Amino acid sequence: MNIILLGPPGAGKGTQAQRLVDLHHLRQLSTGDMLRAAVKAGTPVGIEAKAVMDRGELVSDAIVSALIGEELDATPETGAIFDGYPRTAAQAASLDDILTQRGRKLDHVIELEVDEDALVERITGRYTCASCGKGYHDRFEQPREPGVCDRCGSTEFKRRPDDNEETVRTRMAEYRAKTAPVLPIYEARGIVSRVDGMAEMDVVTASIEAILGQ
Ligand code: AMP
Repeated sequence: MNIILLGPPGAGKGTQAQRLVDLHHLRQLSTGDMLRAAVKAGTPVGIEAKAVMDRGELVSDAIVSALIGEELDATPETGAIFDGYPRTAAQAASLDDILTQRGRKLDHVIELEVDEDALVERITGRYTCASCGKGYHDRFEQPREPGVCDRCGSTEFKRRPDDNEETVRTRMAEYRAKTAPVLPIYEARGIVSRVDGMAEMDVVTASIEAILGQ
């Protein structure tokens, strides 16, 4: 099974992708995570991508499509959840080529529909445990014991540098201008389903599960 999760930043793609990984033994392919790892490792791709990411703009199509191809080859037998990719029509065309070359096809494109103003609050308040990656939120989900991770006990937390309001607004504008036009490409193939991304996380997961079970 190969699935794309589409939706603006903060729609919950990463959270839902992780849940689907656990439920279906799929692999989460997040170009955002891959790029952040490259930035951290100081690779040439990371050095090139960092400034673009800090501004909230899109990294070049060639870079992200190459990353996706490499990661698919690393686990050729496992189904994939594409999280944050494709983000442009050119990336959608590359993904078609990448999948066809590997004898794979897309089964579902799931769009998480959300209210943009609520997203700014969601994104600017989010942070994660620096040790195990568990997600928290200033308003919606604080650790049970303040300053201590519920899952691993670490006292170190981190925030993404691009989760500030100005960059978030740019990321949303990029989504509207460049990523939203990807949807009609998949609509024409009859593989798009929509889910209310503002619902409770468990409800969103259940809605996605219902679509995958069809
Ligand atoms: P994300 O973690 O998906 O929100 O991505 C964080 C940032 O990484 C984005 O704002 C872009 O700068 C960059 N990025 C991630 N995925 C892509 C992609 N498919 N195409 C271009 N840029 C991307």
